[in-house]
Amino acid sequence: METIILTYEDVKELLTMKETIEAVERAFELHGKGLTQMPPKVYLSFEKGDLRAMPAYLEGKAGIKWVNSHPENPKKGLPTVMAVLILNDPETGYPIAIMDGTHITNFRTGAAGAVASKYLARKDSKVFGFVGCGRQAYTQFLALKEIFEIEEVRAYDINEKNAEKFVEFCRKWTEADVKPIEDVCDCDVLTTTTPSRKPVVMNDWIREGTHINAIGADAPGKQELDEKILLRAKIVVDDLEQAIHGGEINVAISKGILKPEDIYASLGEIVAGLKAGRESNDGITVFDSTGLAIQDIAVAKVVYDRAVETGKGLRIDLFRG
Ligand code: NAD
Repeated sequence: METIILTYEDVKELLTMKETIEAVERAFELHGKGLTQMPPKVYLSFEKGDLRAMPAYLEGKAGIKWVNSHPENPKKGLPTVMAVLILNDPETGYPIAIMDGTHITNFRTGAAGAVASKYLARKDSKVFGFVGCGRQAYTQFLALKEIFEIEEVRAYDINEKNAEKFVEFCRKWTEADVKPIEDVCDCDVLTTTTPSRKPVVMNDWIREGTHINAIGADAPGKQELDEKILLRAKIVVDDLEQAIHGGEINVAISKGILKPEDIYASLGEIVAGLKAGRESNDGITVFDSTGLAIQDIAVAKVVYDRAVETGKGLRIDLFRG
């Protein structure tokens, strides 16, 4: 038996954003219908970072992503985040592939924002705001442009160089400018991707009809939105347990400002048709994304299928005596 080994470059070559969005949408649908397995993430914590194990099963494939977060790594010439993903055949448990999970993480996170916006943003959304212009902002933009006719991008980052670089990238497809944060928040779909631990986006800057993808908060204590926004909004989470633990709502829940019952739905329930998405042009919607293992495994499945089709990657027999 063979195990396919795929590097970052291999995965990048094999995966398109369109297929990533389709796979992630399907993963949310299965999650909403209760047809996936996804035990809570397991953490190992160190002085300089952490490691997380993220296992999941869906639609005939199982697997695990083993991913670190070490913010000081760039000083040592290493990336902050490096993910390895093992894909298994649930029939036998055989590890059919071992692949880079870093590109998959970036793409599947962008895809989740796009799927949420498809169901929660106004269909005629044209102006897209980005607060935080690091790595995640790029894949959020690439995914959103698969779903919407983006007419204008407005971007803000505390590091102006990052914002400039991001708008330069977006200009390949649309009008894009760096603007003061208040003007960026005056948009149809706002995406926040900062690692902030205090509100960055204030309530007064958000008008009715806006959809917000809150991507940055994915650990306890992280928060990007003024809690007053959460009190005004219809809140949709990717997974309630994970969101309460470390998503955008975690701080408001721990302060008692929000209760778990205030959360409208999971994205899976909406994609599966069990609850309605946006129902009017008024109202604010917030998607609280923490990142799910089912997104990773769903996308790894696509990468594996493409590798089988194209013959890409190294084939080894791991268990030969
Ligand atoms: P990054 O370091 O590449 O980018 C973060 C950007 O935010 C930087 O450009 C930085 O200057 C900017 N920033 C920091 N504080 C800011 C502030 N107060 N106001 C405006 N801009 C600010 O990081 P990344 O890889 O893009 O990740 C961003 C966040 O997304 C992190 O918190 C990460 O943990 C989270 N994340 C979430 C998911 C998910 O599935 N929800 C997946 C991956 C990463």
